[in-house]
Amino acid sequence: MRKRVTSSLGRVHLARPREATAGASLPAASLAAHILLGRSSCRSVATATGSAEAAGSGNHGKMNLSGAPFPRDPARKDYMQRYRQDLARLSARLLEEAGAAAGARWVDSHCHLESILCRTWGGGGTAAVRESEQLLTLQDLVSLWPAGMEFCICNAVFRKPYKLPLRQGRAEAARSGGAASCLSEWGWLRANLNHFHEGSRLASRLKFTVGIHPHEAVHPQGWDEEAALFVRELAAHPLCVGIGECGMDLLRHKPRLADRQLDAFRAQLRLAVELGKPVVVHSRSAARPDGAAPAYATASGADPVEAACMSALTEELPRSHAVHMHCYSGSLEHAQRLCDHFPRLRLGFTGALTFGGKRGAQLAALVTSLPLERLLLETDGPYMCPAPFRGQTAHPGHVHLVAEQIADIKGETLSKVLAATRESTRAVYGI
Ligand SMILES: [Zn+2]
Repeated sequence: MRKRVTSSLGRVHLARPREATAGASLPAASLAAHILLGRSSCRSVATATGSAEAAGSGNHGKMNLSGAPFPRDPARKDYMQRYRQDLARLSARLLEEAGAAAGARWVDSHCHLESILCRTWGGGGTAAVRESEQLLTLQDLVSLWPAGMEFCICNAVFRKPYKLPLRQGRAEAARSGGAASCLSEWGWLRANLNHFHEGSRLASRLKFTVGIHPHEAVHPQGWDEEAALFVRELAAHPLCVGIGECGMDLLRHKPRLADRQLDAFRAQLRLAVELGKPVVVHSRSAARPDGAAPAYATASGADPVEAACMSALTEELPRSHAVHMHCYSGSLEHAQRLCDHFPRLRLGFTGALTFGGKRGAQLAALVTSLPLERLLLETDGPYMCPAPFRGQTAHPGHVHLVAEQIADIKGETLSKVLAATRESTRAVYGI
């Protein structure tokens, strides 16, 4: 997982937004400016092409990938070929099912574009990701998505910059002629806001949410006045569709830090109510993934994270508020209580649903029991890439595989699953 560092670059989010223009070159004057911008924006500036137009042209159903990058390296070429074959298979499935693939529309309701593009997630420790996958610009990435995948919702929730893995850092330093970059999701969003502006070729396929992740909320500088100001400012952007992901996650943190997470969570819930924005909730049970009992528990025996999450949501939000329970992996009872209380609450499922084993079976049981109308599709890319691409960098072009798994679990047509989850995106986000 990501290694974050504290440094003066923690102020990265305060940098002025930069309006990148195609063909402009990176100012050589300031290494700091390079760091603040993040190297993905530098790559975007350098290689902006019209390749995204093919994907965004409304040519739905044909899955035109003519503008997609096609590398010469054999491993990368093979990866791209398999990706293209998968989209062709999807197109055929939709045609066979509905008689017209052109009608199908879907959305990736949760991903992290900065981590996808910069490979800062490190491939989950899998060198093959960095060696076999091509680094892409945002334009290139969007051009890879099938046209039916209307847009993604990108979450910007990490304020701190983090170190690139040593080897990647050296390569980047050699490439850029400077020190290796430190990036943050907030810094990336700032640097790439030009792509989210009306009139940008990519704007129709990009939305974002902003907040502080519970992993970062455990730090004293995770959620403070500056953070609240940043979130308020970005929330005013026309393509900001929600606050978060925020919530609780005690799998990797000491129980005494739970209060910090809870304070940041509640503060963001109140902000969402004030701003009239949906909330994206990240809630991970304190139960250990191997099924062993949690290290600590409530007096009643209820899962402490589920209990705290339920209290925070019901106490801070009106019942009519829109809620996205992202990458849901809690208990069925908790999901049902949440659904009963909040009519505009939906539960997101990721590629983990395709993983099989105990985890896959648990998620499949949830999907079986929950109404289709309550589900959202998400990749949480770059994490949890669905089968048959497990282990690779997940991105919105993979999210149909989650829908196909839901269709298979529920015995429904893929078209029905895509339509229902698309409607759920409207119910939560109004888009
Ligand atoms: Zn996420």
